[in-house]
Amino acid sequence: MDESKRRNTRQKDAVRHALGEAIGFVSAQQLHLVLRNFGSTIGLATVYRALADLAASGDADALQSKDGELLYRACTTDHHHHLICRACGKTIEIEAERVEKWADEVAKEHGFTQPTHTIDIFGTCLSCQ
Ligand SMILES: [Zn+2]
Ligand SMILES: [Zn+2]
Ligand SMILES: [Zn+2]
Repeated sequence: MDESKRRNTRQKDAVRHALGEAIGFVSAQQLHLVLRNFGSTIGLATVYRALADLAASGDADALQSKDGELLYRACTTDHHHHLICRACGKTIEIEAERVEKWADEVAKEHGFTQPTHTIDIFGTCLSCQ
């Protein structure tokens, strides 16, 4: 690995770590500030890129805020659902309250107890269309 690749990996690991420590969804700017406060010299553009990479590899979930800003969170083992872009792999966490109800009802109708489910929706995201 050459030096620039090594540096990229190191910076991505730092972003991944900071994201794992963050509570809830955070923006690239917030994460950048946190990393800076801990003495990192990482640039905002690098944070953006690392977050996009993490979202594409499924390590992070993205969420679009009301004002159009992308927020990120480390993908957790808590039960949740994803909307995944087939082309670039961008992963967005989705609200699926209706799915929870529907899954429980279907299981109950058939006399099944303790139902669990795994549901991810695949499609093509706005920037890949
Ligand atoms: Zn997730
Ligand atoms: Zn896409
Ligand atoms: Zn669910």
